[in-house]
Amino acid sequence: MEEKTTIERAAPLLAIVIPCYNEEEALPITLPVLTALLDEMKGESLISPSSYIMCVDDGSRDNTWHMLQERHRLDPRIRAISLAHNRGHQYALLAGLMEVRDRCDAAVSIDADLQDDPRAMIDMVRLYRAGSDVVYGVRSSRKTDTFFKRSTAHAFYSFQKEMGLETVYDHADYRLMSNFALDLLADYHESNIFLRGIIPQIGLKTSVVTYERASRVAGESKYPLSKMLALSIDGITSFSARPMRWIFYTGLVSFVLTLIVAVYVLISHFFTATSNPGWASIMLSIWGLGSLVLISIGLVGEYIGKIFVEVKARPRFAVKERI
Ligand code: UDP
Ligand code: MG
Repeated sequence: MEEKTTIERAAPLLAIVIPCYNEEEALPITLPVLTALLDEMKGESLISPSSYIMCVDDGSRDNTWHMLQERHRLDPRIRAISLAHNRGHQYALLAGLMEVRDRCDAAVSIDADLQDDPRAMIDMVRLYRAGSDVVYGVRSSRKTDTFFKRSTAHAFYSFQKEMGLETVYDHADYRLMSNFALDLLADYHESNIFLRGIIPQIGLKTSVVTYERASRVAGESKYPLSKMLALSIDGITSFSARPMRWIFYTGLVSFVLTLIVAVYVLISHFFTATSNPGWASIMLSIWGLGSLVLISIGLVGEYIGKIFVEVKARPRFAVKERI
């Protein structure tokens, strides 16, 4: 089915979406870099001249919002929305993407700290124009991340995979999405959002751009270990009921162990003269009931897993083209 057509899409109206939480130190550096990049891409006729930046102030407690208002006055291409309170990176990003959905041909999401090389955007746009609906930015190395950040992040990727959550390795939320991909994303109504898990499910033609991850231009990470952990657990629990199945498997394994223990207990009960009174029955009930309880919780979990999937009411299919 793979056609080798290179139908060039027209220069897109590009929206750069930036979630911002307490970024007063980074924005004065980031915004000029991005507007210059818009100018450059416009100069090469890669994007439409009315392309713009959409900042999402995620309930910052510092001067971020005032700064954005100021920048908007000086350059109307810098637009912004402000969330009523801090909802976290994923929601801020989603708010921004939904805000630009009907007002762009393609949107690129990028963090406010320029850790993700903005110049990779040029290749993203090229791939979009060659027909990709989703272009992932993937880090080619994490040299500048601290050893701790790098190893915890990698541990999370592997753990998530183990738990049944498929994500793009070393891809954070730096990606381009076409207007069509954004429309499909809008069909996911779940309130527990984990974009890195949902977007691979959307399907469509995807491609990858690699770049070197830099260190933060200014300010501190807004993603401490606690938030990373929460994101990871959210990701797993909103995509997979596998942890519950593991309870079931543990129950099965302990049931098999129970049979072995039972043989041992009964042999020593009947053939060993020194056996304590009550020991055999206690041993058998602990093992027997224990595995029964685990199997039952696992079974209930299977049903909860099904309910969970139904409740999220994810789209069951998406039509790509009609002729
Ligand atoms: N961010 C946000 N809301 C939050 C935390 C972070 O919008 O509650 C934004 C933040 O401003 C930045 C992006 O999410 O643009 C990624 O955060 P950060 O760079 O601190 O994370 P790290 O790169 O350290 O994982
Ligand atoms: Mg960062």
